[in-house]
Amino acid sequence: MRIDVQKLQAGPETHILNHNPAFFDIVGKDCEVSEKVKGKVTFSLVGDKVLMEGNIQTSARMECVRCLAPVKIPIRKSFTVVFIPKEEEPSQKESFNPEEENTSYYTGKTIYPDMEIRDLVLLEIPDYPLCREDCPGLCVHCGANLNNGTCRCKDMEEVAPPNRPAHSWKEQLKHLRKTTEGK
Ligand SMILES: [Zn+2]
Ligand SMILES: [Zn+2]
Repeated sequence: MRIDVQKLQAGPETHILNHNPAFFDIVGKDCEVSEKVKGKVTFSLVGDKVLMEGNIQTSARMECVRCLAPVKIPIRKSFTVVFIPKEEEPSQKESFNPEEENTSYYTGKTIYPDMEIRDLVLLEIPDYPLCREDCPGLCVHCGANLNNGTCRCKDMEEVAPPNRPAHSWKEQLKHLRKTTEGK
């Protein structure tokens, strides 16, 4: 997308988004934007800043971090991004706080907002996706998916406890001393 800032003087400009996921080129095997990115973005001029307001919708395919089941993450986001002319960036400090606002910069008379839109999509993708809030995950012993019911490990633990020493090493040491002292 290419926005001519001078043209915005005549009035706001609205663009309909309908991008293929490939456009967003999201790197990583664990996540893939799986639907077209749709939405609507309006650009308007406020002084020498350009306001980008709109919404995006798409979805991502991921794996549940606990049970590895495929998860579809719906993405819906409304946003406002302010583009500031690059010339202002180095020294001038205004009442504007870039850390609080969603800001970006532009040089010359043109804005290319694709990267910003891509970042907005990326920000909505969770770091730890879950198939459901209380997903019990996989059994650490046998790897069974506990969403399908309990595995046999639980029963076995109850019947025969794992084969570990009955006493801690300190107790064993005490016991050893007693027997050697007794001789
Ligand atoms: Zn899960
Ligand atoms: Zn198990």
